Amino acid sequence: MTEEAFDVVVVGSCMTDLVSQAPRLPKAGETIHGHKFFIGFGGKGANQCIQAARLGVKTAMICKVGKDFFGDNYIQNFKKNDVCTDFVWQTSAAATGAASITVNDAGENAIVIVAGANMLLGSEELQQALPAIQKAKVLVCQLEINPQISFQALQMAHDNKVKTIFNPAPAIPDLEYSFYGVSDVFCCNESEAELLTGCSVNNVEEAHHASQELLRRGCGAVVITLGPQGCVVLKAQEKTLTHVPANAVAAVDTTGAGDSFIGALAFYMANYPMMPLEEMTRRANQVAGVSVQAVGTQTSFPFKQDLPAKLF
Ligand code: ADP
Repeated sequence: MTEEAFDVVVVGSCMTDLVSQAPRLPKAGETIHGHKFFIGFGGKGANQCIQAARLGVKTAMICKVGKDFFGDNYIQNFKKNDVCTDFVWQTSAAATGAASITVNDAGENAIVIVAGANMLLGSEELQQALPAIQKAKVLVCQLEINPQISFQALQMAHDNKVKTIFNPAPAIPDLEYSFYGVSDVFCCNESEAELLTGCSVNNVEEAHHASQELLRRGCGAVVITLGPQGCVVLKAQEKTLTHVPANAVAAVDTTGAGDSFIGALAFYMANYPMMPLEEMTRRANQVAGVSVQAVGTQTSFPFKQDLPAKLF
C-alpha cells in the first residue's frame, strides 16, 4: 500500500458496459441478431476519477471489482489513465459490475445493471484506505455502491477537513439528511434534484428553487447541472444563486456528461482551492461540453492537452 498523497480520491463504482446494437429490442424469450457489439468502461465513480486524472491531478480509486477478466481489464484501464490502483480490491464472491445494454435503431435502450462486486466494498477496505483519504485534497462519492459506505467515506473525509463532493446518483428518494452535512459540494442533475426535493426542475428558475431546498438540508454548496443550459450554483455563505451557462456545442452523445463535469470539478477544487466555485463550474461546463461532442463515455472525456490553456 502506498503512503503517497493524492489530489483526488474517488470512492465508488466500476462497471463494464456490454453494448449490443440491434434493429429492435428483443421480446421476452426471443433471440434476435444485432449488428454491432462493443465493450466500454463505465461506472460513475471510475468515470469521474478518470476525468480528473486526464486533467492532470494525482488520483486514486477506492473500489471493488471481481477476480475475473473484466476486473483485470478494468485495473489495466485505471493504470493506462494514471489512476493509482493500490485501493482497487478484487473479490471472488461476485463478478465485476456490469451493464448489459441493448440499443435499437431508434436510439432507445434496455439496460440490465448488475452491481456485483461494487456492493461488496466495505468498511474494512475504507479503513485500509484511510491514510489516502486523510491526505487527499478532495474526496468524491456517488451512490452506485452501498450508500452506507459512501456515507462513511464522506464522513472520514469531513472529519479530516478534506473537501468533499457528493453526487447522489442514482438518486434515492429518502436520502438520509446526514449525507448533506458531510457534503461541501452537493452536485446532481435535474432528475436527481427532482427526486430528492419533489419539485419539478426543468429550467433555471425551478433549479434555483430546488437548490435552496437542498441547501437547507445542510450542505456547503449546491450545484445542479442542466445539460445544455450549464448549471446553477448556490453557496451557503452567500445565498446568491448563479446561473453558469454552457457554451453552445454540437452534441453527439451526452452519455457520461455529468461524470465528466464532476471529475473536472474535483480537479479544479484540488488544484485551485481559492478559485470561486462559480468559476470552477464555468470551466467544468467547458470540459463536459467537449465530452458531449464525441461518442461513448470515457472515450469522450478530454485530456489536458485537448483543452484550451486558459482552462488551466
Ligand atoms: P447528466 O449526464 O448527469 O444527465 P447533464 O446532462 O446535466 O448531466 O450534463 C452535465 C454537464 O455537461 C452540463 O452541466 C454541461 O456542462 C454539459 N452538457 C451536457 N449536455 C450538453 C450539451 N448538449 N451542450 C453543452 N454542454 C452540455
